Amino acid sequence: MASYFPDVTANRFPPQHPLQRNLGFIFDVDGVLCRGEDVIPRAPEAIERLRRGGKRVIFISNNSTKSRADYIAKFERMGIPVTPDDLVLSTYATAQYVAQERPGAKVYMVGAPGLAAELELAGLVLVEDPFQAEYVVVGSAFDGTGRIREDNAHRITGALRALYHAGAKFIATNPDRIFPAKDGVIPGTGAVIGALSYMLDREPDAVIGKPSKYIVEIALSRLGLSPGECAIVGDMDTDMLAGKRLGMTTVFVRSGAMTEEKLHSLGVKPDFAFDSVIDILAWEGG
Ligand SMILES: [Mg+2]
Repeated sequence: MASYFPDVTANRFPPQHPLQRNLGFIFDVDGVLCRGEDVIPRAPEAIERLRRGGKRVIFISNNSTKSRADYIAKFERMGIPVTPDDLVLSTYATAQYVAQERPGAKVYMVGAPGLAAELELAGLVLVEDPFQAEYVVVGSAFDGTGRIREDNAHRITGALRALYHAGAKFIATNPDRIFPAKDGVIPGTGAVIGALSYMLDREPDAVIGKPSKYIVEIALSRLGLSPGECAIVGDMDTDMLAGKRLGMTTVFVRSGAMTEEKLHSLGVKPDFAFDSVIDILAWEGG
């Protein structure tokens, strides 16, 4: 029966809210679900409600020092239940990329134990002799305080030799140049890429982390969905750019490192922008 007053609650969000059409959601982690060790309010609830609504959810991060096993503990602390299959870190994605290109390849690595663990899980062979290397894989050589890791002290030289003498391919986990830390910024993977690139006057053959599409393609293949069926949720231009390159729906959240003004000044215009991940669920009415 027609009512004199329009039903404003029903019309607040049409049944086919454009964001709701997405079957899968790829979430960046830092700045979206947490800030360091602090959980973003109601982020675990947002993930739970999306899953309950039948959405497929996966998490991606440019972190180049941690394995998926390391990250499971982080997600447990946040109160978001995950399995290794739900996590696509740049360590894991890089290992998959190399293993797909050359199964069982001999790899000379610059980076942390988390990267070594993922390379080995992908069936790659870590070599200590740079002259044996078919691939050089570089992540960050620094610990969380910005000190070069003890076990990496000789590895810039090793990587240089593998690239110069052995003709190895040059793959980097992520392009991040610097990171904020408690006492000031610290070098990221960019410090290693920059040193090798300058010495050899050559760019990496591939950089896997965002804004590259590689890490997102691996997340999509884990979801078993096409880019057009998925949204990417992030707090940085790099998240939005990776999604746009693949034709995904892009969702910016204001809870992280970058302001919306800064994002726009970089010429990046996301499809949606929200204060926080819980606001994505507005299609359910709050
Ligand atoms: Mg982020």
